[in-house]
Amino acid sequence: MRPEDLVVRLGGDEFGCSADPPARHRQRRRTGPSSCLRRLREAPFTVEGVDLSVDASIGVALAPEHGRTLPELLQRADVAMYQAKRSRRGTTVYDPATDQHTVGQLAMVTELRRALDNDEFVLHYQPKVSLGNLQVTSVEALVRWQHPTRGLLPPGEFLPVLERSGLMQQLTRWVLRTAIQQAASWRRAGMPLQVAVNISPRSLLQEDLPARVLAALLAAELPASLLQLEITETAVMTNPERAAFVLTQLQSRGVEVAIDDFGAGYTSLAFLRILPVAALKIDRSLIKDMLDHDEDEAVTSAVTDLAHRLGFSVIAEGVETEALLDRLAALGCDQVQGYVISAPLPPAALEGWLADWQTRRSTPVETAAAS
Ligand code: C2E
Ligand code: CA
Ligand code: CA
Repeated sequence: MRPEDLVVRLGGDEFGCSADPPARHRQRRRTGPSSCLRRLREAPFTVEGVDLSVDASIGVALAPEHGRTLPELLQRADVAMYQAKRSRRGTTVYDPATDQHTVGQLAMVTELRRALDNDEFVLHYQPKVSLGNLQVTSVEALVRWQHPTRGLLPPGEFLPVLERSGLMQQLTRWVLRTAIQQAASWRRAGMPLQVAVNISPRSLLQEDLPARVLAALLAAELPASLLQLEITETAVMTNPERAAFVLTQLQSRGVEVAIDDFGAGYTSLAFLRILPVAALKIDRSLIKDMLDHDEDEAVTSAVTDLAHRLGFSVIAEGVETEALLDRLAALGCDQVQGYVISAPLPPAALEGWLADWQTRRSTPVETAAAS
C-alpha cells in the first residue's frame, strides 16, 4: 500500500484496505492486490526468531461501479473475498453476475432482517438412531422460516441470501441459543438428547464462536457433551488452520464436532485426522444408490472402516428406505438419520414421536425400523 492508502483491521484476521489508484491502474484491476499478496507470501514474518509464512485471500470492490457507499463496498468486497477463498485464486474482483443479487433477493434481505428482529425462525429436530440398539440419543436442529405470507420455508430458500447479506452470524447465534435452550429443557424433563447445530463456514471462522457457544451453554446450564456442531468439509477447507484452532478450543471444553456432508466435497480422511472430530456424517449423495451400485457401497464401506480406525463414529444421512438402512447396519455404520426414521419435526411433535418410538422399540427390530 502507498502512504496515502488506508489499512484497517476489521476484526479477527480480516483487514480492509481502501485505495484510490491512478486512472491508468484502474484498468488493470487486479495488479495492485496481486502484488500485495505476492509480497505477503514472499516475505516471512519473523516472530521471536521463528519465520512464519502468511497467506491471504483478497476481495476487491470498485467504486462507483460496485457501490457508492462504504457498507455497500465492504459487503461486496466480502463476497469477492469468499469467492477468492473458494476458488483458491488468491485475488478476486467482485462480479455482480456470480453474486446473483437480484432485485427479488434484495427485497428478501430486508425481509430477513425483519424476520430476525421478529423471531420468525423456528427449529425442527430430526432424530438420529443408533443402529446397535435402535435408541435415539441425538437430534439435528434444522432451521425453517415461518414466513408471514409464504408459509414455512426450508433453509434452501433463504440461507444462501442470508449468507451473502452478512446476516448469517445473527442467525447462527439465534439457532445456537434456541437449540441449547431446547436441549436444556428436554434434559430437565428427563430426556437428555444431544442436539446438533449446523455451523455455516462464515460462522466457523468467527474467532468469538467458542466463547459464544460456551456462554450459551453456561446460561442454559447444559453440559457441553449435549451439544454437537456440524461443520461441512468445505468450511474446514476454506481455512484449515483457523478451523482447527476454533474446533480444538470447543472440543477441549467438551463440545463434539461432526463433519457434515462427507463425500460431497474433496476432503481426505487423512486431513480430518488432524481435527478434533467425533463423528463423520456421510452425505446422502454417496449412499443413496448404494444398493444398485457396488462401487458406491465399496466407497461407503471403506470410508466407514477408515473413519472407525481414526476414532470417528459414522452417521449416514438421508436414509429413505429400510433396505438401505439394513445395508448400512451391515457395513458397521453407527447411526442413521433420514425419512425412514422420521422427517425433522417441531419440538412438541418430536416428543410425541419419541414416546412412540420407545414403545415400538420394544417390538422386534424389523418392525421398529420399518415404521
Ligand atoms: P444438512 O445439514 O445436510 O441437513 C440434512 C438435510 O436433509 C435437511 O434438509 C433434512 O431435512 C434433509 N433430510 C433428512 N432426511 C432426509 C432423507 O431421508 N432424504 C432426503 N432427501 N433428505 C433428507 P433441510 O432441513 O432442508 O436443510 C438443508 C440444509 O440447510 C442443511 O443440510 C444445512 O446445510 C442447512 N441448514 C439447516 N439448518 C441450518 C442452520 O440452523 N444453520 C446453518 N448454518 N445451516 C442450516
Ligand atoms: Ca447437518
Ligand atoms: Ca448433511
